[in-house]
Amino acid sequence: MLVIGLTGGIGSGKSTVADALAASGAAVIDTDVIARELTEPGQPALREIAATFGADLIGPNGRLNRDALRALVFSNSDARARLEGILHPRIKDRMLKQLAETDAPYAVLVIPLLFETNQHTLVDRVLVVDLPESEQRQRVRLRSGLTDGEIDRIVSSQISRAERLARADDILDNSRDRPALLAQVEGIHRTYLALADGLNDREDC
Ligand code: ADP
Repeated sequence: MLVIGLTGGIGSGKSTVADALAASGAAVIDTDVIARELTEPGQPALREIAATFGADLIGPNGRLNRDALRALVFSNSDARARLEGILHPRIKDRMLKQLAETDAPYAVLVIPLLFETNQHTLVDRVLVVDLPESEQRQRVRLRSGLTDGEIDRIVSSQISRAERLARADDILDNSRDRPALLAQVEGIHRTYLALADGLNDREDC
């Protein structure tokens, strides 16, 4: 099956693009959603997180304090690597299982830190949603209420716009309005259907 990795910086428009591709018939698998499911109360990954980072990360309701965990790994690359060691193999397993179960013409894996975590090796093509940093910051500000300092820290922890663009196979320009983005999504969807068709023809031979 044709597998597309959808990535882009925070607030670039990944969810907007993923929703539109899903509405067109692609199978969309979102690693953030999987990560949240894996850390629901009672899940083995959550127990391992508590054993590794301390039970005080779990509230009295059994729920993970996501803000505290994020703060911990943000300032400590060793802790971040350990967290990734717990979550990534499980995310990959679940992703592959969902991929195997889908009968959509192609699949889209939404992976915000695709390059940063070397997950581009899992996909056939990388689709990047792009926009200028000033516009990106403005959209994040409007959506999240994060401070400029917090936005700076997040943006600078991700690879640069230039590097992301250099490593993309396909690029969607989200610097303009939503209709302009959705028109491009329609085009890329047709491209992926054609590529998926080509792959199926080869497999039939
Ligand atoms: P991501 O998933 O990459 O963080 P989203 O798809 O959630 O990005 O988009 C970030 C924010 O910007 C959301 O509030 C979304 O509604 C808004 N947005 C996305 N595309 C556009 C656009 N072309 N014009 C204006 N706002 C947009």
